[in-house]
Amino acid sequence: MTNKAQIINGQIVVPDFPIIPFIEGDGIGKDITAPTQKVIDAAVAKAYGSSRKITWKEVLAGDKALKATGTHLPNETIEIFKEYLIGIKGPLSTPVGEGIRSLNVALRQTLDLFVCLRPIRWFKGVPSPIRYPSLVDMHIFRENTEDIYAGIEYMTGAEDTKKFKDFLINEMGVSKIRFPESTSFGIKPISKEGSERLIRAAFEYAIKSELPSVTLVHKGNIMKFTEGAFKNWGYDLAENEYGNETFTWRQFEKIKSEKGLLDAEKVLNDAKKTGKVIIKDVITDAFLQESLLRPFDHSVIATMNLNGDYISDQLAAMVGGIGISPGANINYKNGYAIFEATHGTAPNIAGTGNANPSSLLLSGVMMLEYMGWDEAAEHVYDAMEHTFSKRRVTSDLFAHMEAATLLTTSEFADEIIKNMH
Ligand code: NAD
Repeated sequence: MTNKAQIINGQIVVPDFPIIPFIEGDGIGKDITAPTQKVIDAAVAKAYGSSRKITWKEVLAGDKALKATGTHLPNETIEIFKEYLIGIKGPLSTPVGEGIRSLNVALRQTLDLFVCLRPIRWFKGVPSPIRYPSLVDMHIFRENTEDIYAGIEYMTGAEDTKKFKDFLINEMGVSKIRFPESTSFGIKPISKEGSERLIRAAFEYAIKSELPSVTLVHKGNIMKFTEGAFKNWGYDLAENEYGNETFTWRQFEKIKSEKGLLDAEKVLNDAKKTGKVIIKDVITDAFLQESLLRPFDHSVIATMNLNGDYISDQLAAMVGGIGISPGANINYKNGYAIFEATHGTAPNIAGTGNANPSSLLLSGVMMLEYMGWDEAAEHVYDAMEHTFSKRRVTSDLFAHMEAATLLTTSEFADEIIKNMH
């Protein structure tokens, strides 16, 4: 019997006794990893007795890797993730002066993890800055490999920058560079292929999970050939390949202009009644407002890298902050998936017992769902809900909750295990 997850006919297939590689992470990574694994193991045991069990295999990255191997991200770590497909990681500090901008970005790019998935859901009892946090249930699909994040940048004054600027001005006839002598440049690659694979993943997720809509978030009114193209490619994909499962706002507008508003609304309502996923689009700045004022209007969100970065943090703040919001980086084609805490290494509280393990733990729950171990995932969700509603929390939430009880990182994890019924 294998202990490796595999992709068979496009589906992830996980054995009952898989080996899951994990990176402990720097700073509070050490504090939150073992308690997280303890809770996940308890949930799996609760759900499946002795018929399923995870074996955790530590792989090195970050400061621990540097000490042991002389490099922050050893090849062996990448190879082991490739071998076992599914892994989980704590936060990693960004190395200074090693030619790597960020270990996280390096991992995403090396494994081509093109989807950054962030589910945003509120747990009863968790302090929120908005009036109706219970109406928040969003799933962000952020493109992970393109956009201004590709790292194609030219610093003003450098020889390459001069070459690039001269090319733009002399060869391309560009006359809109306001201060050519002191301008730095960044390139924003957005491709049809890259956009389609991200948007396709969002569509598939919405259809499979029976969610009502996918919102394409973009700034296409200004950046017409990159963000505007992203929107159009999304609509094309829905209409050409998902005609039976979706109905788009673009189709609505077409019917409206040809037959009038009443007919368009009838078709839209019929589409909703028959369970079709509604595909719409919103300009990024409007989305940031709407998600605060009318969060119930949005379900799955598909967007490019930079928008996705901003949106993820705002939505996370709406349901309790980065300390409890999970994330995953996934390539749905080859199956590679790394689940991760979305916060950083929090050096200011490392080793104090004040870290909230919920972000990593909920990432672990996403991992269980990706594996198809939904019963175990449910155990953790229920127990966390119970724990929050009893106001037994770590110090980040304790500071904002009345009549709460303060727990350390590992006490909080034990409390969750105690609340698994
Ligand atoms: P941070 O997320 O580490 O900390 C920001 C604030 O949030 C701090 O006050 C911290 O105490 C608090 N915080 C974060 N996680 C918490 C948790 N689980 N429980 C309670 N409080 C928590 O961000 P930073 O200080 O900007 O970054 C520190 C380091 O982490 C940097 O080296 C940065 O590059 C790295 N980083 C890594 C990742 C990642 O690995 N995914 C993400 C962001 C930052």
